[in-house]
Amino acid sequence: MRQDSCEYECSLDDRFFAEIDAPEIHEGCLKVHLSVKKSVGAYVLEFHTEGTVTVACDRCLESLELPVCADNVQIVKLGADFSEDEDLVIVPEEEGYIDVSWLIYEFVALSLPMKRVHAPGECDERMMGVLGEHVCVSSSSEEAEDWGEADTEAIPDDGRETDPRWNELKKILNNN
Ligand SMILES: [Zn+2]
Repeated sequence: MRQDSCEYECSLDDRFFAEIDAPEIHEGCLKVHLSVKKSVGAYVLEFHTEGTVTVACDRCLESLELPVCADNVQIVKLGADFSEDEDLVIVPEEEGYIDVSWLIYEFVALSLPMKRVHAPGECDERMMGVLGEHVCVSSSSEEAEDWGEADTEAIPDDGRETDPRWNELKKILNNN
C-alpha cells in the first residue's frame, strides 16, 4: 500500500441519521469504507457504502427497507474558504479537516431509486384505505392497485406519478 493512502471503516446505524437530521432516511444499517489518497494538490476520497436504509413507501407511507450499495469519489482541496460543488469540496486550510457525514448521506440518498414502493401486494392495506379516503379517489381496491402502474409518458418521472391526483389530471388531458 502506498504511504500517502489512508483507509477508514465505520458502521452507521439509526443514530447517524438522527444526528445529521436526515430529511428522507430515518433508519439504516450501513458499512462505509473510505480510502483517502493524497495526489497533487488534492485529496481523493473514495467511498464504498453498503447495507440497508428505511424510507417511507411512496404509496402507503409505511416503512420500506431498501438495499444500498454505492461507490462514490469526492475530490477535496485545501483553500482559503469553504466551498462545495458537485465535483470539488474546498476545506479552509487552517481548519484542515472535513466532516464526511453529510457527504455519505447524500451519496446514499442519491443511490436510492426514484420510485420507492413495496412489492405488489405488500403495501399496508389499512394505510391505503385511509389515504384513499383523504384523496377522494374511487374506493375500489382495483383502482388502488393501479396507482403504481400509472403511465409515465405525460408526467415526469419524479415519483409523483403514484399520486392518484395525477391520474385524474391525465384523464383531463387525454379528453382534450
Ligand atoms: Zn407500501
